[in-house]
Amino acid sequence: MPRIDCRYCGKELEYKSVRDLPYFPFCSERCKLIDLDLWIEEKHRIEEPLTPEREKESEKEHPEEEA
Ligand SMILES: [Zn+2]
Repeated sequence: MPRIDCRYCGKELEYKSVRDLPYFPFCSERCKLIDLDLWIEEKHRIEEPLTPEREKESEKEHPEEEA
């Protein structure tokens, strides 16, 4: 029998046809929903602008040299 690993939790599933797996490629509705949730969160995170910390050095030794 073919097998897949649940894409979320990694549980091994055996099946005769995809019809045996209503939540393919997940083992259960729960895993499917959780994975979808994570995917959506991930997408939101990517859309946030990256703001790296910068210019901590300006406080160091030359407070008057703000060009
Ligand atoms: Zn699962």
